[in-house]
Amino acid sequence: MKKFLDENFLLKTKTAQQLYQDYARGMPIIDYHCHLPPQQIAEDVRFENLTQAWLYGDHYKWRAMRANGVAENYCTGTKSDWEKFKKWAETVPYTLRNPLYHWTHLELQRYFGVQEILNPDTAKRIYDDCSGKMQTPAYSVRNLLRKMNVRLVCTTDDPIDSLEYHIKLKEDPRLPDGQDFDIPILPAFRPDNAMDASDPQKMIDYIKRLEAATNISISSFDDFLCALKNRHDFFASVGCSVSDHGLEEINADDFTSPEIEVIFGKIHSGKMLDQDEQQKFRSAMLIQFAEWDWEKGWVQQFHLGALRNNNSRMLQSLGKDTGWDSIGDFPQARQLAKFLNKLDSSNKLAKTILYNLNPADNELMATMIGNFNDGSVAGKIQWGSAWWFLDQKDGMTKQLNTLSNMSLLSRFIGMLTDSRSFLSFPRHEYFRRILCNLFGDEIENGELPNDIKWIGKMIQDICYYNAQNYFNWQQQLEPASAKMTPVEKPNSL
Ligand SMILES: [Zn+2]
Repeated sequence: MKKFLDENFLLKTKTAQQLYQDYARGMPIIDYHCHLPPQQIAEDVRFENLTQAWLYGDHYKWRAMRANGVAENYCTGTKSDWEKFKKWAETVPYTLRNPLYHWTHLELQRYFGVQEILNPDTAKRIYDDCSGKMQTPAYSVRNLLRKMNVRLVCTTDDPIDSLEYHIKLKEDPRLPDGQDFDIPILPAFRPDNAMDASDPQKMIDYIKRLEAATNISISSFDDFLCALKNRHDFFASVGCSVSDHGLEEINADDFTSPEIEVIFGKIHSGKMLDQDEQQKFRSAMLIQFAEWDWEKGWVQQFHLGALRNNNSRMLQSLGKDTGWDSIGDFPQARQLAKFLNKLDSSNKLAKTILYNLNPADNELMATMIGNFNDGSVAGKIQWGSAWWFLDQKDGMTKQLNTLSNMSLLSRFIGMLTDSRSFLSFPRHEYFRRILCNLFGDEIENGELPNDIKWIGKMIQDICYYNAQNYFNWQQQLEPASAKMTPVEKPNSL
């Protein structure tokens, strides 16, 4: 019997172990989509305890706790940090076979050197040990990023965000004690709020905030575009080169400028739009954002298929992103193809990454990307890594296999955390182990040639170099080999 979570975790064959240890393990991390708060990085905060780093804002854990019968007060409520942690520790043994079980113990090992299993017996010891460490300078958030060999991070930001912390990090990241920081923290432009006209009052409020952010008075659709373009330019000036959209599905309705002006007039006067008008408005905005992205050579990302805020009672009391979302079954293919085709037809299709939340859309996405790869650049249209509910062993394996079968895995830009937590970076390791295991298996089976050098290079590309080249971040990232520091071996090795 193998030891739980040892050095060969998820690596079943000798070849998989060789690929991981010799090629994947030491590669730095480019986290090109996540939700880390830039303020905490700018201020280099330290968490007081493990609960603050682990359980504040982590709806994956909250969902597991709720499913395990834990009352809300211990998830998002007013119980003390220790009481919340205790409930989480009681829940962990019940999360077996959920990725949370692996993530939890990988995070304990990699960040804190804790080899024990988290359960009610070990909870106090682990809490005290890890919380004690978290209060030391070595566990400031910048050092947590350094510890995981992170080389670049993209956050997720609304167009009206001031980006003050990104600016600070770009212009002078030094701390009061003079300590420098060389991990670029770049914004990503996520204009979901600028195209969701389902709630007239919310949209009017948003327009007011956009006016305040730009000093542009908005009374027509042209003004609205002008203000948003102003923010797009501003984001670019702060180093942004990536956009992101979270949508149930792409809208690609045909529209005319007069139609959209009339629709915007209704929005501006606080009138409710019908479904067709909302859809037409989103279609117009999506094309506009996509054209700006293309003009600037940005990469556009689309996260498609979440059915959000399903529990109105809990939405009312806790707000969005607190764990009441699930996989939706929206039709994706036709509108997505139409949207990409519109852009391609006018030669304005930027590099694009598509993420699906419904695994039933896997083959759809893997074949959709092939429709618009025009040979101008390798892997121009990407099918993104398994996301959210699919970000686990089974989901990642399926994504990698489908991508291999229907496109070129070798050109894949690989993993991202999509996380709000500074302790989520071992998810890259998890992905890399799964990737190496797939190759190792097929080399040993004789399904792939025993060309470790070539396959090792391909693995390093998927872990790091493909993303570096795809996003054109060569300048932001010195050559990895020059900067690479030997990775500290976890204590178990
Ligand atoms: Zn995200």
